Amino acid sequence: MMEYSFCPKCGGALESKVLKAFEPTRLVCSRCRFVFFLDPKVAAGALFKLDGSIVLLQRGIEPSYGKWVFPGGYVDRGETVEGAAIREVKEEVNLDIKLVSLLNVYSYAKSPVVVVVFTAEIVGGKLRAGDEALAVRAFNPREIPWSELAFPSTFEALAAYVRKEFNLDVDLSDFSSAYL
Ligand SMILES: [Zn+2]
Repeated sequence: MMEYSFCPKCGGALESKVLKAFEPTRLVCSRCRFVFFLDPKVAAGALFKLDGSIVLLQRGIEPSYGKWVFPGGYVDRGETVEGAAIREVKEEVNLDIKLVSLLNVYSYAKSPVVVVVFTAEIVGGKLRAGDEALAVRAFNPREIPWSELAFPSTFEALAAYVRKEFNLDVDLSDFSSAYL
């Protein structure tokens, strides 16, 4: 099933066509020939500690309603990735942060989302759930709910973070059984 049916420029019908061998089929307008590229979506998030524990929020929206994730969200067009991470943390858990380093970039075959994750430090604000979260909580690294995390990138970034910051090794077979 095609995700989009009509050309955003002229309203003509989109057709799925092979434009170049070895590339995915593209959506091409049957009227004006506009090529509607389905680009990845970039998301940014941050991992940081509050009194030595890792701040996570419980999602109050789909997808992954009720699952735990670090604060983050989509980067707006025209916004920097770093700016988006800082903005999302403020919106979702009401904390001001300073980015420290790039933790890693996570992407998955068949997923449109590319997740850029930073490590950060809190510089202000007071922990409080935003309107898209059911709850916020700072977890001791040994209490992280590994089987109730929202996305594969949540698991992988948290595993990398606790290894880096707490010298704790996470069993990656938990990851495969939960997500693959
Ligand atoms: Zn068109």
